Amino acid sequence: MIPFVSMPPFEYGRADAVSPLIQRVIANNPGPFTFTGTGTYIVGGPDAGAGVAVIDPGPLDETHLAALLAAVAGRRVSHVLVTHTHRDHAPLARPFAAAVGAPVLAARPPARTIHVSAALDEEDDETFTPDVVLAGGEVVRGDGWTLEALATPGHASNHMAFVLREENALFSGDHVMGWSTTVVAPPDGDMTAYMDSLDRVIARGFSTLWPTHGAPVTGPGPFLAAYRAHRLAREAQIVERLAAGDRRIAEIVPNLYAAVDARLWPAASLSVWAHLIALEAAGRARARPNAAIDADWSLT
Ligand SMILES: [Zn+2]
Repeated sequence: MIPFVSMPPFEYGRADAVSPLIQRVIANNPGPFTFTGTGTYIVGGPDAGAGVAVIDPGPLDETHLAALLAAVAGRRVSHVLVTHTHRDHAPLARPFAAAVGAPVLAARPPARTIHVSAALDEEDDETFTPDVVLAGGEVVRGDGWTLEALATPGHASNHMAFVLREENALFSGDHVMGWSTTVVAPPDGDMTAYMDSLDRVIARGFSTLWPTHGAPVTGPGPFLAAYRAHRLAREAQIVERLAAGDRRIAEIVPNLYAAVDARLWPAASLSVWAHLIALEAAGRARARPNAAIDADWSLT
């Protein structure tokens, strides 16, 4: 079982100091994939004149823009960082950056021809373009803070997490969330990359994870171990279904998700597909005629 964390009471639009160097403002966009809404993080001290960075300005929402501008008033925003291009994270980056005169830093957006399924309500912001393209490993500094870009592809091909070195903390975006597992939906989502990124985060031994949605994970060690085990258990179940003779995702999903509301099966199908593609890449499964969602799958 993953030790999920619940969200303590909060108010939309209010800047809350959640650690010595972190403030959070939550946008009023709750939903099945955003939980209580997008949490925009401001990194830096609270003093007037201090330089700060802002992570994931969020959805295109005038009220949230006004709340962010009020939250940074009197301080200088030196960097606007974006974890990935999904619409609940990226679209407000450009107007916010323009208003404060800061550059936008993010990984290169996915090829515009790649679409995340509408079934997931996790569409790409197709207009998003960073000023500075990050590949991972870059370090930016401000007054008393140091942020390092940590490439974490999987949920999205261009997912970037950010390490706050002074607090041994990670802004984990949608890569690791305290309230839920992460959607990994092909073609842009990639389960092999996701698991590699998870191992990269585990290896760093962070003290706290700050996801874009929901409360922080304050005991990342056991949490991440459970998160990882959950994926491996799901993979093992899929291998079992193939061994039992299931050939198509449409057969596997009703078997594996019998206890789950059928309205969630389209999303579950994408997750099973992601696992099958990873199994094929590892040489453990075969797809005919190719690894499409309606392919005929078998064990090798
Ligand atoms: Zn996302």
